[in-house]
Amino acid sequence: MALLNILKYPDERLHKIAKPVAQVDDDIRTLVTDMYEAHGIGLAATQVNVHKRVVVIDLSEEHNQLLVLINPNITQKDGETTYEEGCLSVPGIYDSVTRAERVTVEALNEQGEKFTLEAEGLLAICIQHELDHLIGKVFVEYLSVLKQDRIKTKLKKRIKHDL
Ligand code: ZN
Repeated sequence: MALLNILKYPDERLHKIAKPVAQVDDDIRTLVTDMYEAHGIGLAATQVNVHKRVVVIDLSEEHNQLLVLINPNITQKDGETTYEEGCLSVPGIYDSVTRAERVTVEALNEQGEKFTLEAEGLLAICIQHELDHLIGKVFVEYLSVLKQDRIKTKLKKRIKHDL
């Protein structure tokens, strides 16, 4: 099993736009398995430098309730909620983002079967956060420019330190 390298903000590749998956085959299923090993509550393929519309989510404490979203599309949104978000690509940074409270999402599962999911609460937030990654958007882009600059400076310093 390949251990995936997670891109860290402000890596430009986090801003690439993911392409739809043409066929849900074994390569995609391997990608899903590898992404799931990365253990966040959610991960978009963009974060591991694979620019395909694939997302894995698992909000369970036991890490045993995998939700796979391939070619996901939000078809309905309503309400408003604010939550302190974090991201594997933006380590150590947490800040409040306002999103829709409830979403309906259509996607394919890892067998390539279409399904519709109505989500609310943390799951709805997580879906919106991960789908943003697929269009090259990182949650810090919802914050003020000043905050974004501070985060960039902080993370760049940390990357240098790690080298
Ligand atoms: Zn993220």
